[in-house]
Amino acid sequence: MPPAAPNPHFRAARRALFALVPLLLAIAGWQWLQNHPQHNPWAPLDLRDPPGWATRTKLARLKEDVGACRAVLARSDIVFTALDAAGEGECARPDRTRLGDYPLSPDTPPVTCPVAIALELWRRDSVAPAARRILGSDIARIEHLGAFSCRRMYGASEGRWSEHATGNAIDIAGFVLEDGRRISVLGDWDGEGTEARFLREVRDGACKSFATVLSPDYNAAHADHFHLDQDGRWSGVCR
Ligand SMILES: [Zn+2]
Repeated sequence: MPPAAPNPHFRAARRALFALVPLLLAIAGWQWLQNHPQHNPWAPLDLRDPPGWATRTKLARLKEDVGACRAVLARSDIVFTALDAAGEGECARPDRTRLGDYPLSPDTPPVTCPVAIALELWRRDSVAPAARRILGSDIARIEHLGAFSCRRMYGASEGRWSEHATGNAIDIAGFVLEDGRRISVLGDWDGEGTEARFLREVRDGACKSFATVLSPDYNAAHADHFHLDQDGRWSGVCR
């Protein structure tokens, strides 16, 4: 006796079920993304969300759009001032954004909005926790050597313009802790002590939000500071 042919109703039901699987998966995936905006490339960026798969892509998009970038600062409850454009030619600065509540010292210079966002993420996700964990104190001040400087790279008379020429970079020289200790890139980078460990960790941490990070490991010109910038080409140098 030949095997009985499958019931046509059963076959139709099975086909319908298989057709539903991708749809159900898509719905589940969409719902999951709604609950995890940090992984959702379509969700508006809010810096209060933990970092996720989509964070870097969203940050990169902001480099082309000052308005969208400042909207992220506002949405994330970060105090800032939007300053008037300044300069011209290679040193034109259409985006001068000053963080209002950031422990930079001796002052808080205007930077581009993408640099402001990266500074905020760096302080919150790397510098503050590393200081507490490794050095046992909170950060009082982050010392810098300047952001804007209308010059080419390394101050040369020709060649590529520095990211500093548009305020799209900042040089960090050291950190002052709440307990009064001061950790400097120049004085504490070498060795295996806790200060050196802290500096290496926050250097690596900066690479999560800045496009380019240059430290004493990169070359002698950076023996006394970390150069942090938001080069639109995302050089990816982190050394
Ligand atoms: Zn620099």
